[in-house]
Amino acid sequence: MEILAHYIAGEWISSTSEEYKDDVNPSDFGQVLAKIPLGDESTVQRAVEAANNAFKGWKHTPGPGRAEFMHRVANLLAQHRQDVARVVALEVGKPIGEALAEVDRGVVILRYYAEEAVHPMGSVIPSQVPGSLQFTVREPVGPLGVITPWNFPVAIPLWKISPAIAFGNTVVWKPAETSSMVAVHLMKIFAEAGLPQGVINLVLGSGSKIGKALVASDGIRAVTFTGSEGVGMGIAQQAAQRNIKYQLEMGGKNAAIVLPDADLRLAARLIASGAMRYAGQKCTATSRVVVVADVIDSFIDHLTEEVKALPVAPAIDANSAVGPLISEDALSKVSYYADEGAKSGEVVLGGKRAQGSLLDRGYFFEPTVIRNVSPDAKVAQEEIFGPVLVVHEAKGLDDAINIANNSRYGLSVSMFTRDINAILSYIPNIEAGMVRVNADTTGVDPHAPFGGMKSSSSHSREQGPAAVEFFTDTKTVQINP
Ligand code: NAP
Repeated sequence: MEILAHYIAGEWISSTSEEYKDDVNPSDFGQVLAKIPLGDESTVQRAVEAANNAFKGWKHTPGPGRAEFMHRVANLLAQHRQDVARVVALEVGKPIGEALAEVDRGVVILRYYAEEAVHPMGSVIPSQVPGSLQFTVREPVGPLGVITPWNFPVAIPLWKISPAIAFGNTVVWKPAETSSMVAVHLMKIFAEAGLPQGVINLVLGSGSKIGKALVASDGIRAVTFTGSEGVGMGIAQQAAQRNIKYQLEMGGKNAAIVLPDADLRLAARLIASGAMRYAGQKCTATSRVVVVADVIDSFIDHLTEEVKALPVAPAIDANSAVGPLISEDALSKVSYYADEGAKSGEVVLGGKRAQGSLLDRGYFFEPTVIRNVSPDAKVAQEEIFGPVLVVHEAKGLDDAINIANNSRYGLSVSMFTRDINAILSYIPNIEAGMVRVNADTTGVDPHAPFGGMKSSSSHSREQGPAAVEFFTDTKTVQINP
């Protein structure tokens, strides 16, 4: 069993006086994988100080030097991909195939931002003053707080930390408690690649204690957060009070629309995958399907077949597609929503805790499909974060778009059709940050802007070129003759 530690100013910090918490395998909750130290405000302060000290040097490190370091990290992560993916599967219950894909995505993200560190930034702006030179430069914001969830424990931290350090910021990273072991493994790779002291600091412990202290710390100039809406809104208030920059990526209640001319088999396969893989624990997971009435019965037949073909198994099993929920609390929450759905609609598939000799030891829930639920029902409105999919019936395209838009969230939406006129009407009328056609709601490219509308996101997009906006500030310079 690993005893985990914070990583501050280039050193692993553990203290015998610290409280520890068990880190359990959600596929087999009898297995304690590690002990997580529960840091406090003083741990955060130490890390913030380290990030401030390092900022003075890192912000002046030329882009090519930062890029070289990031390429070394990418190479090491690629080299250790099997080990890191195994830790992901064990600690957060992500099926091993998806865990490997996530680590590979992490490598791509690191390489992408290593290249961004050497790209031109800023522009020359004609001046009103004759002979004057006026231009903008983009400068790092300062030491940043990076707060991440457990469900993409490699990709999400990397798509925040990579642009942060590529553009010259330093970082205090607070991962979700439940993904502390993955965080420590990533930190080891950064350290092995020659991380300059204090450029990235890792603090472990509970969000309500150290996450809150991090956002409140005077030494932090901006916060980037991914997680639930409730926590995100609290961070927004704290950050606004201190007038620091913040960026929030939060929940989703993503819909897929199926029109009568769609390839129903393809739609059913991608919707089953988007809803059920990793037990629906993705912000972009499909949780609602809106099917135009003519084809609803035959679509549900295909969907049932496709969902049944996805193996529910411990995450480390090579065949696993669904995996466990993250915790006992998550299992209770998903059971609650499945029961709610059963009261107001018709359960087509699943609906209860999954059973079997291997499954009884983990937090497994049956992939669940419920139809004939009102679009206003709780199960159709609230983020469940589990393998529960509701199917609605629509009268036609406009009705389908209205049902899909009937949500406080607006993260990702897909539509299945071959009708170009329907697609042209859908794109401007759908309320979502990521709009897809004949594709799953999950799986957005790592170099494309990522984020949502309405309550799903706040401020500038993540990933790709959009990240420059958040991770740098603009300075306008004028030099007169
Ligand atoms: P969460 O409970 O909101 O936690 C996210 C992070 O915030 C964790 O590191 C957590 O620490 C920390 N935290 C908790 N309370 C805090 C506070 N008062 N101040 C500062 N930090 C605090 O979310 P989660 O359960 O890890 O992740 C699932 C949620 O993330 C879902 O809603 C999902 O939709 C969303 N998500 C969104 C995206 C996206 O890009 N839109 C991507 C992935 C996930 P502890 O866990 O240690 O308490």
